[in-house]
Amino acid sequence: MFDLPPLPYRYDALEPMISTKTLRFHHDKHHRAYVEKTNKLASEAGQKGRILEDIVRDSTGDLFHNAAQAWNHAFFWECMTPNYQPAPEAFAELRTDFVHEGESHFGSGWVWIMAAGGKLKIVTTHDADTALKKAGKPVLVCDLWEHAYYLDYQNDRKAWLEAWFDKVANWSFAEKQLRASKGDGEAFAYPVPENVSAQRKSA
Ligand code: FE
Repeated sequence: MFDLPPLPYRYDALEPMISTKTLRFHHDKHHRAYVEKTNKLASEAGQKGRILEDIVRDSTGDLFHNAAQAWNHAFFWECMTPNYQPAPEAFAELRTDFVHEGESHFGSGWVWIMAAGGKLKIVTTHDADTALKKAGKPVLVCDLWEHAYYLDYQNDRKAWLEAWFDKVANWSFAEKQLRASKGDGEAFAYPVPENVSAQRKSA
């Protein structure tokens, strides 16, 4: 079923903004656990032949929580890059809102930049909840769960969000997602499991 996608960079690539230790725990422990639980629950629910996005969109309960977290994290890794780039103007003007909404979000969750109705907007979601269930298309996301930043920033979520926006965010990926939201190119998709792509080829 679903594989854990490898990080698209080395574990130490985002130092000092994100430590090797954080990325090792976050990817190898947290993300892996979500993928493995999704596989178990999806299999029990007879959903082996489906892509992850479809499972996220129409499942509930534990299957939804784990499938959405598996998807959110795979998307999140792509939202970061070791090749620092300043934010393009359309995104730079969202910085204050992005940091404020992320900082004031109560508890665990995610802060997203989404494209909806031809505009960019900031949306936060609680726990596993995901932009896949919201109106519009996800462009970029930052993880607000403490496991994402506590080893490096302790309780200072604002410092995490500022460092992330200024030094880690992958604006080329954001621009690609934005173009895809307008029908130009492919949006991010979770790697299709082998059994599903084999079925599709033989269909
Ligand atoms: Fe996380």
